[in-house]
Formats: sequence, structure tokens, C-alpha cells
Amino acid sequence: MFGSYSNFLDHCLATADETIEPSFDILSAGTEVALLDGGVLRVEPNTACDTSLVISCGVHGNETAPIEIVRDIVSDVLAEEQKVGQRVLFIIGNPWAMQVAKRFVDVNMNRLFAGDWQHQDVGLKEVKRAAKLEAFVANFFASEPVTVTQRYHYDLHTAIRGSQRERFAVYPFVEGRQLPANQQAFLARSDIDTVLLQREAGNTFSSFSSLKYEAQSFTLELGQVKPFGENDLKRYSGIDYALRELIAGEPLPEQPKRPVTQFEVCHSIEVTSEHWEFFVPDDALNFTEYAPGTLIWRDGEREYRVGEQPECIVFPNPKVPVGQRAGLMLRALAAE
Ligand SMILES: [Zn+2]
Repeated sequence: MFGSYSNFLDHCLATADETIEPSFDILSAGTEVALLDGGVLRVEPNTACDTSLVISCGVHGNETAPIEIVRDIVSDVLAEEQKVGQRVLFIIGNPWAMQVAKRFVDVNMNRLFAGDWQHQDVGLKEVKRAAKLEAFVANFFASEPVTVTQRYHYDLHTAIRGSQRERFAVYPFVEGRQLPANQQAFLARSDIDTVLLQREAGNTFSSFSSLKYEAQSFTLELGQVKPFGENDLKRYSGIDYALRELIAGEPLPEQPKRPVTQFEVCHSIEVTSEHWEFFVPDDALNFTEYAPGTLIWRDGEREYRVGEQPECIVFPNPKVPVGQRAGLMLRALAAE
């Protein structure tokens, strides 16, 4: 399937600038395998299935652990050591950034989805790739057999900075929806005990699949950025196990085994002018908690202080241009 390359990842990296003709294969168990492009592989069982599952990684090129996990799952599928009971679309996002061990080359790909690529320079490789990935996901959902009733998309990442909560999920905002118990069960099974509920529609890959295709989608932050080959994949055994169970066709538990703490965004921090001051230290970990009344930012007369309940910061980054987002403040939701 991958010609002279030993696996899905090596093939994707080596052929990033080539046009790949789709190729097809059937495994002995009857599973149909289609390599649709470099880093885009569809597998479909020949038995009735009820779920379309999109598993993406490497939208940020230096977030290597999830890429290694996906590479190994694909190798096991092709070697028929991993059972396939659901249809799955595996995606490796940004091979050019991987080649240079960077988050991105020209533009942050995870801000290009939900059609945002249309407002960018479509001559850029990452912009073209985002458009193509949207089309592959759209076709994948459009070609579902009638037995399929559920769509899931897990977009796998690792974070640049450390976190008080090692692993967390981001649940994109879709008007009126709530996080289902079986998805909380998936997160718990993946050793993810924290979920951040967004309160505005976004342009991430997972926002795209939830907004346009009503998929249960998540951006999963699974650990910290490390170069290829330097990841301790044992720290990722939870997500590896949970994905393999889903691919094999195991249904999700109805209820989570352990509680998942839900946070909602209560304030989006924006750099408002050149005089804007930020009181969160540069090395603050994600999910660092601040007590009520703590000053977070100030710009002349305007300021933001933590409200009556403690708040946590995530994705702090004050080195962005005026008008852009410098972080999010979160509040824990009371357990039900
Ligand atoms: Zn990322």
C-alpha cells in the first residue's frame, strides 16, 4: 500500500509534494483499505457498522506522539493485528511542518477549518491541505452506508506548555448541544479527566466536523510536544487503547467510569492596545488556578479580575498582535 515506504507516516512524509493516485486493497478479513492521498487512509469493514470515525493527528507538525500512535494503529490494521469493526478515516495533517519539526510552516492549520481557508492565500501548501482535508472528511461522511448512525472525530494534539492537568479535551461549540455521557466515557477511558467546553464557534478541525456534519468531535491535548522517537508512548496508552476499542467495533460505555471535570470559557483574553499589561507569568502552566479577585490584565482604566469563583488559565500567549486572543479564562462547572 505504501510502495517502498515502511509505514503510513514515512509514506506521507516522503510524498508530501507528489500527487498520489488513490490505491485500494482488500484484507483477508474483507476490510477495504483506500489510500486516498499521502496521509489519508480510509478503512471499511465488510460487515454492517454503525459509526464513522475520523482520527486525525499532525495538524501541528511537531506534535509527534499522536502521529506515532496513528502510524502504529494503521500498521496493525494492515497487518490484521487490529480488528476493524467500524469505518475509519485516518489523517496525518501537516507533513511539511513535520519535515522541519515545527508547529506549522506558513500558517497555523488549526485556524483554517470551517471554511476559513477560503480567506487565506490558497497558494500556500497548508491552506490547500486544509481545503483538501475538509473535502476528504465531507466525502467520508457522504459515502456512509445506511447502517451508520454516529459520527465521531478525534483530532489528536500535544500542547506546547505543561499543564496542571496533563490531558484535556476541547469540545467545540455547537448551538444547543450538550456533552453526551458516552463521550465522557470515551474520555475517561482515554485517561482524560478534563474537558473544556467552548462557548463560540471556532475554525479548528474538530469545529469543522461538528458544525458541518454534527459529529461528536474533540481536540484532544494528550501531553507535551517532543521530537519524533523521544515520546514515552506508555503515557499515551489510554488514548491508544480507547481508539483501538472503537475501531474494533466495541460500543462506548453508557456512563463514564470516572467523573470528567467540565470547564467553560468565562472570558476570552484579548490584547487590546500597546499599553495592555498581562499579569500571568510567561511560564504559567495550562490550568493554573487563580483566586477570586486576582488581576489578570489591565489596559489603562480597563482590567479583568477573576470573578467570585476561582478561574483557570489556558493557552496563555501575550506575544500576539493587538486585537488577537492571548488566552482563555475558565470556570469549572458544578458536578451534576
Ligand atoms: Zn496542536
